[in-house]
Amino acid sequence: MDLEIPVIINNKQQTSDMNGLIQEKWNKRPLIISGPCSAETEEQVLATATALADTGKVDVLRAGIWKPRTKPGMFEGIGTKGLPWLLQAKKKTGLPITVEVATAKHVEDALQFEVDILWIGARTTVNPFSVQEVADALRGVNIPVLIKNPIHPDLELWCGGIERLQKVGVKQIGMIHRGFSNYGNMEYRNAPMWHLPIEMKRRFPEMLLICDPSHICGNRTNLSAVAQKSIDLDFGGLMIESHIDPANAWSDAAQQVTPHRLAELLGELIWRSEHTDAKEFISALATLREQINHIDDELLALIGQRMKVADKIGEFKKSNNITILQTHRWNDILERAFKKGEHLGLSKEFITKYFDAVHLESINHQNKIMNDDL
Ligand code: PEP
Ligand code: MN
Repeated sequence: MDLEIPVIINNKQQTSDMNGLIQEKWNKRPLIISGPCSAETEEQVLATATALADTGKVDVLRAGIWKPRTKPGMFEGIGTKGLPWLLQAKKKTGLPITVEVATAKHVEDALQFEVDILWIGARTTVNPFSVQEVADALRGVNIPVLIKNPIHPDLELWCGGIERLQKVGVKQIGMIHRGFSNYGNMEYRNAPMWHLPIEMKRRFPEMLLICDPSHICGNRTNLSAVAQKSIDLDFGGLMIESHIDPANAWSDAAQQVTPHRLAELLGELIWRSEHTDAKEFISALATLREQINHIDDELLALIGQRMKVADKIGEFKKSNNITILQTHRWNDILERAFKKGEHLGLSKEFITKYFDAVHLESINHQNKIMNDDL
């Protein structure tokens, strides 16, 4: 028998004014979330929150209360003791607050201290047991939830997390792109792999997607470039870590910025929108897109022709008992393409990916020819 699930507002004291404000913030684009990696002391939380509110550029205050750290002995969060500091900061500044939750107990404590938005961290999204535990604790609770990508590039797991939340009735769900861990990657702490959030946008076109440049970069220097890239890809907002005294932060010191620097950085970003009513732009874009469609048609036709030639080669190889793959020929093709590509402004990375795909398709064609009588 199905039981009616009562809808509990996230806490009894939450005024309807506050609920209205959270709805307004949730729907605002760009949505800007900022605050320390971790709540450390009452003074640090209040000083950071006040300075952030004073910038007038931040919509929601974040702070980690429970920190899933890679190694024991690192600062693992102040725990529930920090929640009253956040509540105080919310009352003082009027900013809604968000914290990371990883267990049912975290959810219970966060709701008790009037947290407005919850987020599920990258290390939790990887574990279906944990996501399900959080989801079960949210059954019948009316609170927005953001879910970070899992630490490794597994989109199905990210989607699975979203589905678990949807299944228990969470209505407002958003995604946070924080990059993917990559052994030996020096450029980023977590590689952005932009094609993955782009695919998530394709799968969930209506869902809020924000970028967390702090955990992608792991430093302060590249924050604006990554933030700008996400804006150019039509992300709906940013979550950036900030701290009143970043150099002395108890966690993620290298990537946090002062509220003052955050305001500067946000001011320097160029905000773009996906649509415009400007007629000239619309018609110029339509003409260029027409050209792109035409070129794509020609490319496909040429690739089709290329496969027909590959089929003929396959027949020759078959009748002369020659292997499909001849490594030196493959190297020649790549070398030629790298040289040509350089003049055409095509990166080595693109050439490799493109020829890998074309070559594999040729091999599949020739395989069919070689083995059509098997
Ligand atoms: C954080 O936001 O401080 C955090 C722990 O991030 P992530 O889950 O992306 O590692
Ligand atoms: Mn952090």
